[in-house]
Amino acid sequence: MNSTTIKAKDPMGRAIADYHAGGKTAKLRVFSSQFYEDEIPVATLFRSFDEMPVQEQEALRLCRGRVLDVGAGSGCHSVELMGRGLDVVAIDISELSVEVMKERGIDARLVNFFDKTFDEKFDTVLMAMNGIGIVGKIERLPDFFMRVKQLLAPGGQLLLDSSDIRYVFENEDGSLDIDLAAGYYGELDYRMQYKGVKGEKFDWLYIDFDTLSMYAEQCGLVCEKCADGEHYDYLARLSVKAAQ
Ligand code: SAH
Repeated sequence: MNSTTIKAKDPMGRAIADYHAGGKTAKLRVFSSQFYEDEIPVATLFRSFDEMPVQEQEALRLCRGRVLDVGAGSGCHSVELMGRGLDVVAIDISELSVEVMKERGIDARLVNFFDKTFDEKFDTVLMAMNGIGIVGKIERLPDFFMRVKQLLAPGGQLLLDSSDIRYVFENEDGSLDIDLAAGYYGELDYRMQYKGVKGEKFDWLYIDFDTLSMYAEQCGLVCEKCADGEHYDYLARLSVKAAQ
């Protein structure tokens, strides 16, 4: 897979470009077949370190060596890491976002994470704001971990935050409205819209820590929790298991 998001179908990229240009931004609307309509405040995509949730702040503190910021968006994490003297490469499939990041002085590349022709090595792979969402469906986790292993330099680490969204399905009596036959409950679909720009529908995965650990272990990675967020979210660090 090596597809990228063209400008005409990239609502988030358009919102990022508008904000960067200093213009007035509109609502970045999020639709899902599982939820009511929601909205992402565009300014949050440009959050500073102090405005970030604790799990992202901790992720930035743990970054070391050469860092790959995956699905970097506006580049808010890359900018902070560069300020801390780290060597950062940011990748994103959004042409508009990559243009903005380049203007912000970031070494940004229009690269799809799953494109194996991008074969540089990194000491830290960072996937912030539920960046693992790009995996889409749980069945794709083994491919994802294979790709992570290709990108990691010896001793390297993957830092990611995600959430256990089971609270969304919880009834007052503690029972869960989850159809166990329908697959993992964290598999969502989204579509975004900004002004007249409508994006394609895409799959987006939220994964709880235990499920993540189980799959990671199966693929030869060690998974540890580094922080708990304020709302069922967490930061995990994964690394390749040392040979016995
Ligand atoms: N990390 C940023 C942006 C999160 S939004 C932040 O925390 O603010 C998710 C980003 O991932 C979007 O910019 C989207 O274009 C990008 N993206 C989605 N699929 C991708 C893929 N397969 N490879 C690289 N980037 C991807």
